[in-house]
Amino acid sequence: MSLTPPRTHTRRDPQDDRLRDLALARGGLDRVAHERTHPTVVDDLLGDPATRVVELRGEHLRVRSGGGGDLALHFRAPVEADRAGLGLHLGRGPDGTAYLGVVSSEPAPENAPEPASAAGADGPGEAETWLTLRQAGEALGARDAGLFTTALALSNWHATHRHCPRCGAETEPTQAGWVRRCVRDGSEHYPRTDPAVIMSVIDPDYRLLLGRGAHWPEGRFSVLAGFVEPGESFEDAVAREVAEEVGIRIDDARYLGNQPWPFPSSLMVGYAATTTETELRIDPAEIAEARWVTREEYRALLSSNEIRTPSGISIAKRIIEHWLGATVESVAGPSVVDR
Ligand SMILES: [Zn+2]
Repeated sequence: MSLTPPRTHTRRDPQDDRLRDLALARGGLDRVAHERTHPTVVDDLLGDPATRVVELRGEHLRVRSGGGGDLALHFRAPVEADRAGLGLHLGRGPDGTAYLGVVSSEPAPENAPEPASAAGADGPGEAETWLTLRQAGEALGARDAGLFTTALALSNWHATHRHCPRCGAETEPTQAGWVRRCVRDGSEHYPRTDPAVIMSVIDPDYRLLLGRGAHWPEGRFSVLAGFVEPGESFEDAVAREVAEEVGIRIDDARYLGNQPWPFPSSLMVGYAATTTETELRIDPAEIAEARWVTREEYRALLSSNEIRTPSGISIAKRIIEHWLGATVESVAGPSVVDR
């Protein structure tokens, strides 16, 4: 089994300011892809009481909080009912422990109280509840955030790829949940990830371009983003999206980092773009309003609650903070961050 050494051991270029430890770009398990092709791997894992199961109900996983404020996934041993669900071999820990995702047809219990730390209150004791990745992702540790992200991405893919794109017959899961195979022609289909670019656009006065999406509520602003098209590089997609949405040409785009965004199946690739063009020509089909802000103006808008930031687990928030030179919470507290 080969494991990647912890990131703290990696040597970094001192000039390198790329985004590290993005909330959903974390992990820590060995994915043991070679085990997936064993025909009984899921049955074997379900028969082993040492296997740690995470049960996915809709978009929810069971999460527990301790008095310390951080969240952790609830793991349990396999139960008979797991055999009726869809098994996903998510990987093994450093001690060889196997982690199995089970996509259940049960709905998550409604209106469950959130753990104290997720609700923003302090308090001793432990609580358990079912949370979405958007709710729990930031507060989970690296391994658990990676497990949740992978399980949700796979589950979303299975839910929408039940038929063969070649002949239209049904497909069935195989290879421990990492492949679907057509029951008629035997063709194999792999989980899909859709790349999207997301970028700061910065002018010669170091102002940031903020946009509000056509269907977003008043006050919610973020950086621009869009899907990469077939035959297009990330850098070309950055230039095209900026030109389409706000009508300006960029001079350069520099890579910042990336993270999975399984809502339902994206991979967000972050860039910092520069431009000397500042006159905006907005496409109203995509953008309701766009504006340039200095760092001082942005701090003031946050502090006065006139604008809100993207969600805490998003790369968008981290890209804004990269430009701002500070966390949003240090400027205006946690209440301006959208979930
Ligand atoms: Zn087929």
